[in-house]
Amino acid sequence: MRFQGIAVKLHWSFLLIFIWIGYVGISRGLSLTETIYLGIAVLGMFGFVVMHEYGHALTARHFGIKTRDIILLPIGGVARLEKMPRNPWQEFAIAIAGPLVNLFWAGVFWLALYYSQFEFRASGEDALGSFLNPKGLPFLFFAMNLSLFLFNLLPAFPMDGGRILRALLALRMGYEQATLWAARIGQVMAMLFIFYSVMTYNIILTFIGIFIFYTAGLEYEIVRRITGYHGLTLKDIMRTDFITFKGSDPISAPIERYFRGGAHSYIITDSINGRPSGVIRREDLFEALQSGRWDSPISDWMHTAVFTFDQDTPVNAITEKAAGISDFFAAVTADSHIVGIIDDTILYRLYKLKPFLPLYLKMRKDLSNRSLQSSSSQTPTHENPSSTP
Ligand SMILES: [Zn+2]
Repeated sequence: MRFQGIAVKLHWSFLLIFIWIGYVGISRGLSLTETIYLGIAVLGMFGFVVMHEYGHALTARHFGIKTRDIILLPIGGVARLEKMPRNPWQEFAIAIAGPLVNLFWAGVFWLALYYSQFEFRASGEDALGSFLNPKGLPFLFFAMNLSLFLFNLLPAFPMDGGRILRALLALRMGYEQATLWAARIGQVMAMLFIFYSVMTYNIILTFIGIFIFYTAGLEYEIVRRITGYHGLTLKDIMRTDFITFKGSDPISAPIERYFRGGAHSYIITDSINGRPSGVIRREDLFEALQSGRWDSPISDWMHTAVFTFDQDTPVNAITEKAAGISDFFAAVTADSHIVGIIDDTILYRLYKLKPFLPLYLKMRKDLSNRSLQSSSSQTPTHENPSSTP
């Protein structure tokens, strides 16, 4: 399913919904038409969830951020944006656009109910009643949209309210600090939720509360891992003692190097211009070793998809990418020639060094200022002696 160039995907667990509809139909002894009405009501609800996600996706597009896809789960939807904007106002706009779609529809159905003098309000005492009767649909859709609006505004990650809160806090403090506060407020919210659910014996609310408590903290953990490297570029952190091979070299060469205590991954360079053309990982070496084709060229075994980044790329830009990839590995280039490598062990080490980074950066700034001063005192004039007649 595609609309506006964004794919809408159903998660496999979505099938459970149809099984549930069938189950309710049979267990409650509903007629076929009633079961179909129930299906329409449930699908209608997901229609509003999809529109909510498009609210996020189309607002993100307005700021030049693409949406990979929209995934529908039985518990709701997720619009997977390619990145999250670091501009607080943009994040605010993207986050609030979803709930506003539901507020709009709640308003439309309320007006419809109002002008029909609530004739269409479902009358059954049973909550299921309004699902089974087409006359109950306007009220049902009004209630759905109002709940979607209110639920998503809860100020806790992963709800939109958490992002809205973070964005508003980020106007006054740093992004990481704002995430910390938003996460803590979300966790307090979740605890109140859990407390309330235990008092009222509502086990579903307890589970939702535990889920919110966990994910609210997770968001801060993710942000803490990818931010806070301001001023550092790949040039500052890359490993320069890397080993390269040519694609035409035999695979036995990197295997030997690995068993002598070499790195987990090797960069393969183009034999013509020395550019990175592939990467060979530890698993490839084992596979080649088992195959017995020890003379075969490395190019038969290497992965040609290799991340390359210019050495002036900020570290923040890499950590964000690497966060979603296990075994992250990238070649660092200067004028498209390889000058270093970055892998997840380097990034993990850097993360552990974080408390010392401000001091380290201060030291480097200090040293470079000193060397600038001394170099300017050594060469007071820029006159070229040979040009004087
Ligand atoms: Zn949303």
